[in-house]
Amino acid sequence: MSTQPSASAQPSAAPAAEIGVIGGSGFYSFLDDVEEVRVDTPYGPPSDPVTVGELAGRRVAFVPRHGRDHRFPPHKIPYRANLWALRSLGVRQVLAPSAVGSLTPDLGVGTLAVPDQLVDRTSGREQTYYDEGAAIHVSFADPYCPAGRRTAVESARAAGWDLADRGTLVVIEGPRFSTRAESQWFASQGWTLIGMTGHPEAVLARELALCYTSLCLVTDLDAGIEEGEGVTMEEVFRVFGENIGRLRDLVGDVIRALPAERDCPCPNTLDGMKLPLELP
Ligand SMILES: [Zn+2]
Repeated sequence: MSTQPSASAQPSAAPAAEIGVIGGSGFYSFLDDVEEVRVDTPYGPPSDPVTVGELAGRRVAFVPRHGRDHRFPPHKIPYRANLWALRSLGVRQVLAPSAVGSLTPDLGVGTLAVPDQLVDRTSGREQTYYDEGAAIHVSFADPYCPAGRRTAVESARAAGWDLADRGTLVVIEGPRFSTRAESQWFASQGWTLIGMTGHPEAVLARELALCYTSLCLVTDLDAGIEEGEGVTMEEVFRVFGENIGRLRDLVGDVIRALPAERDCPCPNTLDGMKLPLELP
């Protein structure tokens, strides 16, 4: 990481990027040769200055979801600012690696899961850009970009990951972990993954007509299916640390393979809607 301390004050002077990466716990930097960009948004600053660099000819913007020093717990992350900042730099496709728990013994520690559904169990988080004016109701039946998911699954398979090519991610409010009863309830619904940051990130991306793909690294078995004390933060960071190199490589593989031209439904999300604000 050779982030420059100097920063551009004007977003208009910012270098353009086409692909955005939002790094989760333990994933605080991505590319080596980067330019740091300070972007302000109507929702305040993002978690940290965005770093922009190049990988395989693609312009990539990176923001660490929790801040580089992990100062934002899941319920305090400036989700709206992060997505807005990425879009304002030109980003249209977002990859979102994160650490998750497994709700089923089928998905062991070290598994890479590419969820196709989510269940929102958060509360009180800002989860829309459209607070005022005409009601904007985006489609969210399929919360993730189909093209991004396909690319992620193919890349993870080619790289030899233990892979779950679909799954339902339950997003809890946190910052505490679940009780055993909660975990058993979630698991009994057939939901397979549990995390704290996948929402509202996914819906905010959708509201900005961005492609959004979640890459979930299983770092623990959740309380309901694990004997003993249940998950600890120490365990999460240990497993993440062991896998961060592979995960970083995988994100690079996915970036190389993402389509240059989007042919998924995501760009058309807001077609025909009279937006109360101008998108960056
Ligand atoms: Zn898409």
